[in-house]
Amino acid sequence: MRLVLLGPPGAGKGTQAALLCRRYGIKHISTGDMLRAELLAKTKLGLEAHSYIEKGELVPDSVIIDMVKAKLKEPEFKNGYILDGFPRTIAQADALEQFVKLDAVIYLEVDFEIIIKRISGRRRCPDCGAIYHVSHYAENTCSCGGVLYQREDDKLETVKNRLAVYEAETRPLIAYYSQKGLLRTVSGEGSPEEVDAKIAAMLVP
Ligand code: AMP
Repeated sequence: MRLVLLGPPGAGKGTQAALLCRRYGIKHISTGDMLRAELLAKTKLGLEAHSYIEKGELVPDSVIIDMVKAKLKEPEFKNGYILDGFPRTIAQADALEQFVKLDAVIYLEVDFEIIIKRISGRRRCPDCGAIYHVSHYAENTCSCGGVLYQREDDKLETVKNRLAVYEAETRPLIAYYSQKGLLRTVSGEGSPEEVDAKIAAMLVP
């Protein structure tokens, strides 16, 4: 199964991708996580991407498209995957179409007010990538032992810019995939388990 998870930052794409991977035995590909790993390793790509990420801007299409193309060639993805955070522009979607036949695009719809609340309390584990929210989890260490942190681009001003960029660059993908008959819209509001159940019901053939 080859899926795309579409939705604004904070819609719960990472959380739902992890649940979908468990259910279908497919792999999770998050371009945001890939870029953060490159940055941590201080590669040329990571250092170049950092200037965009910290401002909440998109990394140039050509850079992202080459990175995803190379990733999808790895053998572990031959049984399927879920793309989280890619494509984010029409140019990326057009490029993806050249090398992948998608089964569905799941659009997680969430109100911007809820997003701001979710993102401002979001904490991430640097070791395993798990995501927590301060209102549900008072500890500062992950179950794997990693010390939780707030992503620099989860600060309020940057989040506002990320949402504006989403509106301008990524929202048009909803109509794009709807026209291709691939779009499946799910409300991303509610607990992760509730949203997961709605997605599972929708993906049943
Ligand atoms: P995310 O973890 O998906 O919220 O991504 C974090 C940041 O990485 C974004 O705000 C962008 O700066 C960059 N990024 C991730 N995926 C893409 C993409 N498909 N196209 C351009 N930039 C991206």
